[in-house]
Amino acid sequence: MFVQILGSAAGGGFPQWNCNCANCAGFRNGSLRATARTQSSIAISDDGVNWVLCNASPDIRAQLQSFAPMQPGRALRDTGISAIILMDSQIDHTTGLLSLREGCPHQVWCTDMVHEDLTTGFPLFTMLTHWNGGLSWNRIELDRSFTILACPSLRFTPLPLRSAAPPYSPHRFDPHPGDNIGLIVEDLNTGGKLFYAPGLGKVDAPLLEIMAGSDCLLVDGTMWDDDEMQRRGVGTRTGREMGHLAQSGPGGMLEVLEQLPKQRKVLIHINNTNPILDEDSPERAELARRKVEVAYDGMSIVL
Ligand SMILES: [Zn+2]
Ligand SMILES: [Zn+2]
Repeated sequence: MFVQILGSAAGGGFPQWNCNCANCAGFRNGSLRATARTQSSIAISDDGVNWVLCNASPDIRAQLQSFAPMQPGRALRDTGISAIILMDSQIDHTTGLLSLREGCPHQVWCTDMVHEDLTTGFPLFTMLTHWNGGLSWNRIELDRSFTILACPSLRFTPLPLRSAAPPYSPHRFDPHPGDNIGLIVEDLNTGGKLFYAPGLGKVDAPLLEIMAGSDCLLVDGTMWDDDEMQRRGVGTRTGREMGHLAQSGPGGMLEVLEQLPKQRKVLIHINNTNPILDEDSPERAELARRKVEVAYDGMSIVL
């Protein structure tokens, strides 16, 4: 299985257009050793030709241009995208669908909850019907594995994860299973297993067991400190409130990953405030000590 990181940052990207936090300002003025990152999206394939896009980010145009297999050039109009899976209905994971309108219809896989948000509060499905049939919905049923025709040797298993629905969701303050999912992707030919969860608020014992059964963990790297937005003076919401488990502190992501010594561990969906973006930071050195990698745009993983 080929896993291509198209975008490794959280919403806003890095640097975020209107942000002058220590990271964003430091990157712009050249005082920080760091790499720019686009908003969260990965592509997965079993043959390197047909790709399943996981999340469609607002940066999708640049992301597709940055990775040649996404434009195989077999016809006058063509794409390497065979299907799209949405992990939730957040803006930074779905807005890219608007930019894909010229290629409709697209096969889109998402839960009932995500489909509801995207037909009401943020009606992408409804709007795009005006473009050659728009988005054709394939329902993801929780805890039921599915396959996608274009990548027949991959088996996808959705896992409902605790999170918060976006502000425009009709059930914003009433969380439901399926608002946010993680995925286990298994290559039935190679046996390789990926655990992908860019939004992961809590790891309980059953989930830890699932993670232990995977070869590579591509997990929530949004924040280092739960109160990072306040510390950096750019917001008031905590990671926990946004459905993201911070890396540091008791019960944090690093402690979780410490219990999984055999897996390759990669943090993704990194917020621009996170000190791990600074390659010379003590936090980044701690990750290196723990053999935890930081995803970057253009990173490829083969499983
Ligand atoms: Zn996000
Ligand atoms: Zn910033």
